[in-house]
Amino acid sequence: MISKWPVKCYVLTSLISFSSYLPGWRGTLLGIAMATVNAMITEYGCSLEDIIVVLGPSVGPCCFTLPRESAKGFHNLDPECVRLFDSPNPCVDIRKATRILLERGGILPQNIQDLNQDLNLCTSCHPDKFFSHVRDGLNFGTQIGFISIRE
Ligand SMILES: [Zn+2]
Repeated sequence: MISKWPVKCYVLTSLISFSSYLPGWRGTLLGIAMATVNAMITEYGCSLEDIIVVLGPSVGPCCFTLPRESAKGFHNLDPECVRLFDSPNPCVDIRKATRILLERGGILPQNIQDLNQDLNLCTSCHPDKFFSHVRDGLNFGTQIGFISIRE
């Protein structure tokens, strides 16, 4: 039985864990963030308008490139997700893509937190603060994300 939570629900997404790995960007395009949101709605009875999404730090478009063929999916989503699309390896903004997909899924724009404090720092550009699979390859560490429901 699903109980209704009369409270705000929070989703803290770690783009590191599902978007920065080579197979992870596919998960972004497949809508893994909204899949999480939908699970919170169906499994926990959260209301779409009460869900707050926090996008954790991730690799930025300054450092994340894909082969042009792979970047097409992001370009098709919204051309602003891709810089230098005509180059062989365009820069891809997976944070922007995630925000667009969440907004299209019904998350209120003001409920997506992706700019506060250090949230929008590129993990690859800040080795003093973050591990980065893009920067460090297999010699990387671990970051952890949490999802909580406050009563
Ligand atoms: Zn960077």
